[in-house]
Amino acid sequence: MHRDPNVKLDNATLMARRQAALPRGVGQAQPVFVDRASNAEVWDVEGRRFIDFAGGIAVLNTGHSHPKIVAAVQEQVARFSHTCFQVLAYEPYVELCERLNALAPGQFAKKSFLMTTGAEAVENAVKIARAYTKRSGIIAFGGSFHGRTMMTMALTGKVAPYKIGFGPFPAEVYHAKYPNALHGVSIDDSIASIEALFKYDIEAERVAAIILEPVQGEGGFYVAPPEFAQRLRALCDKHGILLIADEVQTGAGRTGTWLACERWGVAPDIITMAKSIGGGYPISAIIGRAEVMDAPAAGGLGGTYSGNAISCTAALAVLDVFEEEKLLARSLALGERLITGLKKIAAKHRAIGDVRGQGAMVAFELFEGGDFAKPAAELTKQIVAEAAKRGLILLSCGTFANVIRVLVPLTASDAVIDEGLAIIDACFAQLA
Ligand code: PMP
Repeated sequence: MHRDPNVKLDNATLMARRQAALPRGVGQAQPVFVDRASNAEVWDVEGRRFIDFAGGIAVLNTGHSHPKIVAAVQEQVARFSHTCFQVLAYEPYVELCERLNALAPGQFAKKSFLMTTGAEAVENAVKIARAYTKRSGIIAFGGSFHGRTMMTMALTGKVAPYKIGFGPFPAEVYHAKYPNALHGVSIDDSIASIEALFKYDIEAERVAAIILEPVQGEGGFYVAPPEFAQRLRALCDKHGILLIADEVQTGAGRTGTWLACERWGVAPDIITMAKSIGGGYPISAIIGRAEVMDAPAAGGLGGTYSGNAISCTAALAVLDVFEEEKLLARSLALGERLITGLKKIAAKHRAIGDVRGQGAMVAFELFEGGDFAKPAAELTKQIVAEAAKRGLILLSCGTFANVIRVLVPLTASDAVIDEGLAIIDACFAQLA
């Protein structure tokens, strides 16, 4: 270890060093520095234990340091770590693409390739859609989050804090309304907002793709109903537009199916994945219709680290763990347990206006006095801070910053889940 284990670290000193050495733009939800982690628990440098309901923002569906994934990675590190797949290839990359293809919905041939981050996956989905359709326009949705690179910032439908001061962004990106029954946007309203774009901003014949999250992640865990996806699919087919599902947050079993779009009854042309497919190792995937994926010329896709060998091996181990531990069924059961527990807390506190979820992608939304016109952003902040004090890591999200989301590992025990729920209950008893 490069660090002297006899030097005692503490969170306050590390925060001061961080503030002096790092720019403020790099956020930090809690003033906590991690020493080690296991499954759904984390210990900080001062020896305090936390229950982790954040999962590294949806990255740890298989938990921290799953022994099978650790073993696979250790074996791969000792063998080789990097050759650059485009220089010297390796089998784990190919096997991962084969397995991802087989797991994606749609009765058509599929191909996929690998990148490193979610934003890169979305960037590449756009590149491919443009290369295939020879069109330029992209329609995304208000409240969406697609990443922090220039194109993905343009696609992201939330200004603060993601876009402030960073423009101008790439052109030909338009935003429609995402359906959101709770906040008064019906499926009809949403489809009408796309028709309005065709009227006021860009002709349908110049639109390459419509991109959506099946459940908006950063936007607040709002679920797009299957009927909406079916109507989008019909609209896309009518105008020769590709449909892209950004499953960076929803994918890898979070919603109870491997991909959330499996519930749609129609298939997207391109799917982006990242986060939990790598079990903590950076990897993303772009999966799609074979003829669409083959549109870019040879050499048009890739990157130095893309589909890194260690990450590929980790992702294959993640897939094995999903099968062996039946994590899709676990995701559904966990979701039910969370929803039941949160609804019990909501019954005692009017501030919790909605408890919702798909599988284990669960959230609750806070309003002042239960008034849907008054999102309770301040209370949300206080609950998250108090939970951390009591040993539970929570994440907020939402266009109105009033949603608390749960992204706990699917491998977490019922006992740890119940312990987390009890902390949320105590926070509301104190603050709401
Ligand atoms: N798309 C979605 C739906 C996401 O939730 C995220 C990350 N929160 C991204 C894209 C960007 O992923 P990354 O941070 O790995 O670039």
